Amino acid sequence: MSKLRELVNSNNFKLNFWQTPSTFGRPVDVLVPLVSLLPVKSFLKSQGLEYAVTIEDLQIYQEMDNIAREFPDLVSKVEIGHSFEKRPMYVLKFSTGEGSRRPAIWLNAGIHSREWISQATAIWTARKIVSDYGKEPAITSILKKVDIFLLPVANPDGYVYTQTKNRLWRKTRSINPGSSCVGVDANRNWNASFAGEGASSNPCSEVYHGPRVHSEVEVKSVVDFIQNHGNFKCFIDIHSYSQLLMYPYGYTVKKAPDAEELDDVARRAATALASLSGTEYHVGPTCTTVYPASGSSMDWAYDHGIKYAFSFELRDTGHYGFLLPADQIIPTAEETWLGLKTIMEHVRDNLY
Ligand SMILES: [Zn+2]
Repeated sequence: MSKLRELVNSNNFKLNFWQTPSTFGRPVDVLVPLVSLLPVKSFLKSQGLEYAVTIEDLQIYQEMDNIAREFPDLVSKVEIGHSFEKRPMYVLKFSTGEGSRRPAIWLNAGIHSREWISQATAIWTARKIVSDYGKEPAITSILKKVDIFLLPVANPDGYVYTQTKNRLWRKTRSINPGSSCVGVDANRNWNASFAGEGASSNPCSEVYHGPRVHSEVEVKSVVDFIQNHGNFKCFIDIHSYSQLLMYPYGYTVKKAPDAEELDDVARRAATALASLSGTEYHVGPTCTTVYPASGSSMDWAYDHGIKYAFSFELRDTGHYGFLLPADQIIPTAEETWLGLKTIMEHVRDNLY
């Protein structure tokens, strides 16, 4: 125990203890930065302390590099901008065709940093696409017609903050002038009934919409990229938790013009998702299914002509909530893939 406390108190390794050492000899969970991995392992060995690596790699950026390097003909890594704290924002582009204006699908994850199953599912999905391409007919035929752009960490500063300071941080990490409260809800910051219902003008609120439309550089970077590209047909934002598959609108109870088609696609996606292990999703427009939410990415996409706009809330329904255990990552990603694939097949067959 005293040896573990030595580790806690030492600042050399930049460790992040998810549980602090107790006196009853219970195991502790520690996040170890890559640079400290070997020194920490040898310290534990020298002290006779048993350890096991439970989550191999929180380093999503490393896996993005691996995928881009291993599949250079299919994948490229695109830097679309940077975060408030100057972290790069990387997108994986999956493409089998020439030209930069092929019809495209945008997959967005981690806009709310604490929803870790979202970023994890995104990076699993990236690996799934490259493994299945050329072998599995659905993804192969999807990529014949459309490009897929995947942003696994839409809020990099928040994500780092959840790993180092506050596991339950949701917002960006931008400074709010005149307030001691930090950050904006990046999913209330889009130009879709901005500052309307379901968002707050108080910087200390978890749903603070920000000082103005697209004030968050993370949001602005995505908006600019999608608008410059000009041929996105589908936008899917991945959140947790609640097991919901939603479509526009979030900012009004009014029915979206394409509601019937979107509802049909979403129901088929939810059925496919449930076919793997019975995970049940509710399907419907955000505003009437959960609550009003203005300024969301999904509504922005829809209002800017991207018809197939959806938002997932992944596992679970609240038992673990944001702290979904690591052993549910792969089952969640696997079932979500079936839902995503159903939507992407529909997009492939209904390009407009
Ligand atoms: Zn969310």
